[in-house]
Amino acid sequence: MKRIYDMVILGGGPGGYTAALYAARAGLDVLVLEKLSAGGQMALTSQVDNYPGFPEGVDGFELGMRFQEQAQRFGAVTEYAEVRSMELGAEPKVLHTSGGDFYARTVVLAMGAGARKLGLPDEDRLTGRGVNYCAHCDGMFYRGKTVALVGGGNSAAAEALYLSRIAKKVILIHRRDTLRATKLYHEQLMQLPNLEFRWNSAVTELAGHDRLSGVKVKNLISGAEEELPVDGLFVSIGRQPATELVTGQLELDNGYIRADESTKTSIPGVYAVGDIRTKALRQILTAAADGANAAHEAELYLTAG
Ligand code: NAP
Repeated sequence: MKRIYDMVILGGGPGGYTAALYAARAGLDVLVLEKLSAGGQMALTSQVDNYPGFPEGVDGFELGMRFQEQAQRFGAVTEYAEVRSMELGAEPKVLHTSGGDFYARTVVLAMGAGARKLGLPDEDRLTGRGVNYCAHCDGMFYRGKTVALVGGGNSAAAEALYLSRIAKKVILIHRRDTLRATKLYHEQLMQLPNLEFRWNSAVTELAGHDRLSGVKVKNLISGAEEELPVDGLFVSIGRQPATELVTGQLELDNGYIRADESTKTSIPGVYAVGDIRTKALRQILTAAADGANAAHEAELYLTAG
């Protein structure tokens, strides 16, 4: 006989495990499906300073483990499996995964967001071979080397600061003539002796066979192109919601799952929490708040059904 969970949660970041905590505490039978390890994007952050309750800050990976342990204390179970497809409109809902099929009365989508890519032809081939999306994860491989960094937001600014402490030279390439990042960052970046800027510029080509050896940069105003020999490229141009699995099943808005603070999606019994849904502020705290709301809404749905 197939087991039907009250709630299956996709993704073990702060949104997913808060939904698990609240649902398990409410007596629901809860399963979290996680691909690799708890924490989601926050696990890649060495110092989280804006999650309340940690006056000295906390390591993101450790915080992720704590979220998981707390939910498990109330009976939530974690399975490590990759979800390949879902039947969200079915009754019960079906999740086809690398670890077999799972059945659920309610589903919480907490898959978060991944790095946005430049979309260049050799980008995937050279990823991990000189092309990187997380300075705090991979920056240490470029000690004493020259790296380029694309982006102009707060993430790119923070990564430029971080990389400037490791690399010999950092070249920041941005498509406009000013950064989107807050003024505080501008002032700090302008003072770095090993940071060069390429304003109004875009990377148009990646060079290298087995590894990245350089990038071609085009000035978007003059049209002039230059080849920059670099050891590494960091891409920091925002995030892309992980909605491939739900495209065609749920209403999306600009790529994000359309859901308000209730986290209810266009399919009854399906909730979207954290960075994957339409919202103004994507933070650990707001993802956790979504998780609590999703568990509450799921409880109401299950009681009514
Ligand atoms: P973001 O603020 O959306 O910035 C993305 C940057 O990438 C922008 O400068 C954008 O250029 C550029 N960009 C986008 N697509 C591009 C493309 N295809 N090619 C080249 N450049 C492209 O994203 P984020 O920096 O990842 O930050 C995400 C959120 O987290 C923001 O709300 C940010 O404030 C917040 N955050 C805060 C901190 C902090 O210290 N407080 C740190 C990190 C992140 P344009 O400027 O031309 O649009």
